[in-house]
Parts: sequence; structure tokens; C-alpha cells
Amino acid sequence: MIYNVLQYLEQSAEKYPDKTALKDEYGEVTYAGLVSDARKIGSYITGVIKGETNKPVAVLIDRNLLSVTAFFGVVYSGNFYVPIDMSMPAERIDTIMGTLSPVMVIDCRQGAGNDDGIRVESILEKKEVDDAALSAIRIAMIDEDPLYAIFTSGSTGVPKGVLVSHRSVIDLLCAFDEAFSFDEETVFCNQAPFDFDVSVKDIYNSIYCGGSIVIAPKKLFMSPKLLVDFLGANNVNTLIWAVSALRIISDFKAVESASMIPKLKNVMFSGEVMPVKSLNYWKEKFPGTRFVNLYGPTEITCNCTYYVIDRDFAPEDKIPVGKPFKNSRVLLLNENLKPVTERGKEGEICVSGRCLALGYWNNHEKTAESFPAYPGVSEYPVRIYRTGDLGYYDENMDIVFTSRRDHQIKHMGHRIELGEIETALNSILFLTVSVCIYDETHEKIVCYYQSENECKKEIVAELGKKLPKYMWPNVYIKKDKLPLNKNGKIDRVMLKKEWMENNG
Ligand code: AMP
Repeated sequence: MIYNVLQYLEQSAEKYPDKTALKDEYGEVTYAGLVSDARKIGSYITGVIKGETNKPVAVLIDRNLLSVTAFFGVVYSGNFYVPIDMSMPAERIDTIMGTLSPVMVIDCRQGAGNDDGIRVESILEKKEVDDAALSAIRIAMIDEDPLYAIFTSGSTGVPKGVLVSHRSVIDLLCAFDEAFSFDEETVFCNQAPFDFDVSVKDIYNSIYCGGSIVIAPKKLFMSPKLLVDFLGANNVNTLIWAVSALRIISDFKAVESASMIPKLKNVMFSGEVMPVKSLNYWKEKFPGTRFVNLYGPTEITCNCTYYVIDRDFAPEDKIPVGKPFKNSRVLLLNENLKPVTERGKEGEICVSGRCLALGYWNNHEKTAESFPAYPGVSEYPVRIYRTGDLGYYDENMDIVFTSRRDHQIKHMGHRIELGEIETALNSILFLTVSVCIYDETHEKIVCYYQSENECKKEIVAELGKKLPKYMWPNVYIKKDKLPLNKNGKIDRVMLKKEWMENNG
């Protein structure tokens, strides 16, 4: 019985001990080596925290195989890992660490010092494996135990830690297997940072099928042609990437012919709407490749629906997000949480099933709000996740994503709550009030602020201390007075209309 993701890793290690499991720009590790290293890390952790389980261990990540090795090490210890990107501003890291209270911090950054946690290399150098402790931990674990937490932007200014169990990932893997049947020949190229749940699909699909992961160095995403060469040279055949990353290649027309990535079999994308123009570029360059639109938020463990591209789309068409994966229930609900079943009628995309995250770490209030009981079933509890996404059924009963019902956006591939930016802005003392809108067409975050003096430079400097760069507004507009709607709130609709009229 599979109840722990490590069983997949161990099965693949048994079948393919000498096969490369992970490769990065610094080296590679075989399946046997990965298991051995992860067990050392697990033994070390459990020794230090005296056998405690289901506690958070922060992993300071890099784009390297050691980060993934540390993840598995944490799982061997019976705890859950939380990837942390230390390039974020210190204030945001402090907020996350404050919410998390990790029992240990493991630093996997290449060439980092010793200040921020225990270095992963130093664990690997010294530590022996405590087989008895690891077996006892495994026997005591159940599939509902947490596997990882990933922090996402929070509308009140505090990032939320989405806590996902082994069960949800096991479910995802079985569903992906049924839908796509990856085999041991699969070579995934990891694009998504490890603190973004798109990367969960690379890591776990690969150990499930006994494939290999090649971690693409970050700098390649600034040189599309080199990126394409890298994919070809590494025999990559499967990309599970964010739309924004695939667009780097299509926007720059970096592919001359399919022979540049001769083995490419699967291109799967998610995270935001794929522009038809970009998809058509990819399809034209790689006619023999399978393209799949994957949909879902971090809270339902990566993806709950998929659509295999089986027809041509005109630039004005919308590419459906498709139908649910096996064992996920995806409903469109109206404001009263009643199912919308008619074609073409919009509803909120709501999800139930084992794919649902356990909730937000240490935040019961937000968990209850986002994962309410489904009122359509009163006799026993059924949890749903309200995605906040709106969609409708097309003529084939495929779901088509239309928009959001709140102020969450996708910008340069990142999920951002405009509220988090506004909270940071409004904590700046010299600003009276500010609000952000998003211009999807030009991909710009526009900040309107009310202030007596021109102070853009000061705002930018202050925001730099609070928010990661991808959250910084692209445009600042000073107003003597921000318009209010009839409820006395800042009128975003009017501001957006005004912006679009002037910049449409
Ligand atoms: P994240 O939790 O970062 O994966 O972001 C989840 C959000 O990204 C969803 O709630 C949607 O708003 C958006 N999203 C994810 N996949 C798609 C897709 N295939 N098409 C359109 N929007 C998507």
C-alpha cells in the first residue's frame, strides 16, 4: 500500500539504482545516491529534533539537486519541508519564518555561508544512517501527514503557507499516470523554482516513473536561444512549465526547427492563460509533440483539470482548461454555492477530493474561509476549495477559465495578491493611501497613490525592503485625491477604466 511518497523514490531506486535521478549545473546524482543522501539527512534531522514528526523544516533553496535531496531528507525524518527563497527581502522572509517557526533550517544555497542554518553539505559529510529510527518513523506515518508547505501571496499582507499531504501528491501522481503515462525514459527539464508548486510535478512525476530531472540554470531564462540549446543537448523530452517560461522561447522565436529539441514529446503548461499566439508558435515548431493545458491553484495540489490540445485555435479563441483529473471533483458554483450546469454560464471553480491541501499552516481562520463545507451535501462533511477563479462550460463541457473574482493576479508567472502590495505600500509612513490595479494587456502593475508630494523614488526604495522585485509596481501615478465609489471605498473600477482609456 502506498501511503508515503518515499515509497515511489525507493521503488525507482531499486529498479534503476545507477540511473541519473537529478542533474544540475554542478553535478548529478543517481537514484541510489539520492536515497542514501536523503537517508543521511533524515537521520541527522531526527537525531537533532529527537524524533519529533510533522513539524516544519525550512529548506533554503537554490536551483540545485541538493535542494531536492534535502526535501527528501526532511521527508525521511517524518517532517515536512518548506522551500524558502532567500533572495526575497528580509522583512518578507521574517514574516514567513514567524508564521512557520521551523524546527530546523537547512541551507542548500551554492556557496552560502553558515549563518542561516545548517549547511546540507556538512550533514552529508558527517552523518551516518540511523536505519532503526527511519523505519520506526515510516511505520508510524500515515498518508494524511504533511509533505510540504509552499508560501503564496496573502491579500492581508501576510503570505500563506499552503500545507499539502502525502495523500494529495500520491493522488496527483496516479492521476497524471492515467492521463499521460510517463515512463522511465522521461527526461523532465525543471524550470519552476522549488518554492513554486509547478516544480512539485517535476520532482514527483520523475520519481514515480523512474525518469530523470535536469534542473535548468536560472541564467538560461534570460537567453532563450541558449535555453533551447540546453534542452536539446540534455535530451529533454518533457516540459511541465509555467506559461510565462514557455513564452520566453516563443516571444523571442528562439526555435528554428524541431531538431533543436529532437526528443521533445510533452509540453505541459499552467499558471495563467496561455496566449493562443504562443501556443501556435510551439505547435508549428513541434508538430509531433503533445501539448496540454493544466489548471489549478497550489491549494488543490498543482492541477485538478487538464485539456490535451486536440484542435487548432484562432487568436481570439480561449483554450479550455478542460475536464477534471481522476478522483478530483470540479464544480462551477454560483454565489449561493449552487452548481451551475448550463453551458456558457459563469460560476466559481470549486474543487473537492483528496487533492485538497490540508489548509494554511497556522492560519485556521483563512483555512475555514477558503476551504468551507460544501452546502450541497448536508449529511456528512465535504470540504471544497473555492479557487476564486471564474469559468464556464463550453459546448464540449470543457471548463474555460475566464477571470478572477478578487484581486489576485498572475504577473510574470507569479501569483500575487494586489492586497499584499497595497499593505506594503500603506505601511510606508509618508503615503496617505494607495491602490494597485493590473493591466493584463500590457502586463503592468499600476500603483495609484495619494500624497502631497511627488515621492516615487522614496516609495520604490521602501518597497524594495518589503517585497520581492516581481511584486514592485511598474507604474506609479500620484493623485491629489483617489476617487471613491458609493460604498466609500477607493474606486478601482474607475481607476482601471481611466488607465485603460489612456493606455489601451
Ligand atoms: P498558483 O497557486 O501559483 O498555481 O496559481 C493558481 C492560479 O493561477 C489559479 O487560481 C488561476 O487563477 C491561475 N491558473 C492556473 N492555471 C491556469 C490555466 N491553465 N489557465 C488560466 N489560469 C490558470
